[in-house]
Amino acid sequence: MSPELMLGIKAVLFDLDETLIDGQAGLKATHNAVASRLCQYLTLSGTKVSEESIRAKLRALDDRMNVATKYNRDAWWPVLLGEIDADKKISRSLVEELTHLYWATYAGASEPYPDAESTLVYLKDKGYKLGLVTDTDGRKGWKNRRIKRFRFAGFFDTIVICGEDTPHTKPDPESFLLAASKLGLRASECIFVGDKPFTDIKGANAAGMRTILLKRRDWSIGERADFSINSLAELPHVLGDTKSKII
Ligand SMILES: [Mg+2]
Repeated sequence: MSPELMLGIKAVLFDLDETLIDGQAGLKATHNAVASRLCQYLTLSGTKVSEESIRAKLRALDDRMNVATKYNRDAWWPVLLGEIDADKKISRSLVEELTHLYWATYAGASEPYPDAESTLVYLKDKGYKLGLVTDTDGRKGWKNRRIKRFRFAGFFDTIVICGEDTPHTKPDPESFLLAASKLGLRASECIFVGDKPFTDIKGANAAGMRTILLKRRDWSIGERADFSINSLAELPHVLGDTKSKII
């Protein structure tokens, strides 16, 4: 490792959604698709509702469920339907359909941020080990399938899917500690980059890693990170390299 880089840091670990890939574009397409299907179902069964109002409720629900770290979409749809029309029951087959529609649309519309791959290449060239620590999509195997779509999946020395490879999702520190041990490192030799203060930063802090909050949006939930950045291209600077630029 180059001597100008941050002392003692041997690995850079990342979150996936909204850190390396643009989840907002994916969510917009996903919310449109789910709202359109639900609107069709409700209209056919006699409930008058606009697609826009379903979309607005779904956007709010998505944020609430993320803050509560409830990722199983099957559990979201009865809640959403209850907010639109409390008398409506949702069938098991519609639950399945909406969950599949959600993830298929999200996977198809969430591409890496333009500086994601070049950042990972830069770090590998500098001699850092790379890790990915990312929460389950709610069903075993789905997140892994989504990760494998990306060319950068092969760049990581370890991938931990929290809630599948470990019993709990973030912010439980166990997944961060598992990633460090799979890399043969102590947590204090790892720095974690993530966008959510209440899962990524809280969990990595608890594991004893250094932390970088990537500010993609304001969650209005405070959790102290060692550094905060606005784009991945700022990483070299944080790691002590004042000369390199990531394009
Ligand atoms: Mg994220």
